[in-house]
Amino acid sequence: MKYTEDEIRTIWLDFFSRSEYGINLSRIVDEYPDERSLIVKFEDIVEYNPAFAEDFLKYPDIYLSLGEEAIKKYTGEEMEIHLRVSSLPRDRRKEIRDLRSVHLGQFISIEGIIRRATEVRPKLKIGAFKCSDCGGLTYVEQIGSRLIEPHKCAHCGKSKPTVKFTLDIQQSIFVDTQRVEIQENPENLRGGEQPQRLSAYLEDDLAGIIVPGDRVVLNGVLRPKERRIFGNVKITEFDIFLDVVSIDKEKKELESIEITEEDEARIKEEARKGDIIERLRDTIAPTIYGMKIEKEALLLQMFGGVPKKMKDGTRIRGDIHILLVGDPGTAKSQLLQYMAQIAPRGIYTSGKGSSAAGLTATAVRDENGRWTLEAGALVLADMGLAAIDEIDKMSSTDRDSIYQAMEQQIIAVTKAGIYATLMARCSILGAANPKYGRFDPNRPLVDQIDLPTPLLSRFDVIFKIIDVPNPEKDKALAEHILNAHLVGEMLQLEEENILVESYSPKIEPEFFRKYIAYAKRNIFPKLSDEAMELLKKKYVETRKLYEETHAVAITPRQLEAMIRLAEASARARLSEVVTKEDAERAIRIVEYFLKEASTEEGIIDADILYTGISSRQRSVMEKIDIIMRKLIDEKGFAEEEEILEEAKKIGIDEMKTLRILEKMHREGLIREVRSGVYKYV
Ligand code: ADP
Ligand code: MG
Repeated sequence: MKYTEDEIRTIWLDFFSRSEYGINLSRIVDEYPDERSLIVKFEDIVEYNPAFAEDFLKYPDIYLSLGEEAIKKYTGEEMEIHLRVSSLPRDRRKEIRDLRSVHLGQFISIEGIIRRATEVRPKLKIGAFKCSDCGGLTYVEQIGSRLIEPHKCAHCGKSKPTVKFTLDIQQSIFVDTQRVEIQENPENLRGGEQPQRLSAYLEDDLAGIIVPGDRVVLNGVLRPKERRIFGNVKITEFDIFLDVVSIDKEKKELESIEITEEDEARIKEEARKGDIIERLRDTIAPTIYGMKIEKEALLLQMFGGVPKKMKDGTRIRGDIHILLVGDPGTAKSQLLQYMAQIAPRGIYTSGKGSSAAGLTATAVRDENGRWTLEAGALVLADMGLAAIDEIDKMSSTDRDSIYQAMEQQIIAVTKAGIYATLMARCSILGAANPKYGRFDPNRPLVDQIDLPTPLLSRFDVIFKIIDVPNPEKDKALAEHILNAHLVGEMLQLEEENILVESYSPKIEPEFFRKYIAYAKRNIFPKLSDEAMELLKKKYVETRKLYEETHAVAITPRQLEAMIRLAEASARARLSEVVTKEDAERAIRIVEYFLKEASTEEGIIDADILYTGISSRQRSVMEKIDIIMRKLIDEKGFAEEEEILEEAKKIGIDEMKTLRILEKMHREGLIREVRSGVYKYV
């Protein structure tokens, strides 16, 4: 140490009296005990005395405790005011994976996302133990996690087991404590690495102010934690934890992506150059062939629409949810992984789930038996993108809470006495495989995916990706994949040529993310009159098709989807106004997916998408229903032959009637009492 203890005390005192912190201290004294921490920015200490600041980082325990003594002296009060030094310089920021024994006892900071947090519980600091004989109190300071009782009474001198000690709660001193687990920010991980976690300890006024999903920087002292095996044997290998001194809460925006002035200039320049959306789209997963519209939608998803808050407090989400359903081997997983990597705050996970928290959140017991709230993928992806592969495989608890996450964008946990609401303002990119291995083009989509209708209807866009052999397309795809492999080999040899170039993203990923972050932070486009007029016209026109086709081709949900996509399109162009062109782009995407996913005999029918039954089919179904009811009323059951006959009279052919009977049967509406004889269930 560069200074003696006395010198340190004096320097702190001088620092408080010379800086604004003296004023802050007087305010804290007035507010005590509601306020009991003095937050000091590290840079102010550096400015005041660089050598002192540097030494502080090496011996934080001594400097902090002497600082707190100096506070007492300065205020002249017997108040326990914490000295919380915050905002450490960047070079004190350590990656969890890089922590080594040299860091023990040092003042460091860890940036990450809170993965778990226990309930806040009191911990005994100073125990007042009452003697069973004389009734006198013996005070014992509690160090570590095991309760320390006095050996003998400080008054009568009698010791255990002659006398017994009981804890006097009133005279003891307790402090609130909480343990959290911080996890490395996903964006700092290089491809495929598992994020590492560090446990951290919060005391007094720091306890209970952060929740899972929060992005924070924890500043504190790294300490070893004793480990015991076989119940009680202490061992020489230690765990580590961070004893937190202060918390810098990251604002929930995309702060972790730094955008310099140069970056900003280039971002604006690129946007000005025009066709930025096409260029960004082509940057997405260049090794994946085709899928232009899909990639365009994924691009818009990253920008998102504008969330709105209504006067009555309801919130309309801006996030765009997209589902890819398709045959196996159609690059769905690849696309998802790519998007999660490129999107700010992107997370890739599988519906099958690897953690207990699954997609949403859960309460689990930690090793000390404390209830702990653990954030799942959607919470960790707050303000970002959650790419959920095999979403059809998610657990039933996730199924129950994902609705709320998709619409209200929160996740409420009520379990084991924990009641918490976590934020999940993310867009969801899901992928699902067909239930029966491959798509049957003759059956509606919903019947072939294992996802309930209400969940499906929460996706703004649902793309169906079918793998049907097609010589021309297959040739192009094969060439594309072969070339990609060739390019991979050339890159190994560090070759550069035209082919390599065409497989390299036009805009490098680093800049891409900055572009998105910039647009999301700064651009909040509004619909122009023309755009609004166009969307309205399109909607009304498409609805009108009903008169001819008796099919509902579009529902309000798709109108909302179009608005969000149009806003995202404007954002991607860094435009504050949603133009007619943006609206056209949105319409094109929605029409494309509706056509792919919900067409029956060439007619688009939004009902097919969500229920598997077209509205025309439904009206046929209603007619058959009437026939059956009539028959059953007459004689208690309905025979197939008679149903077919009656149906034919009103122009429904046999095939259709049989298909509908099968469907009603499958859905449990009717049952077959004998072969060809039906009754209602
Ligand atoms: P899915 O998740 O849809 O089952 P994957 O993402 O696992 O499919 O893709 C399987 C493999 O096929 C991947 O290596 C992927 O690169 C390749 N592949 C499939 N479709 C394409 C395509 N359109 N362009 C390039 N590669 C493709
Ligand atoms: Mg897959």
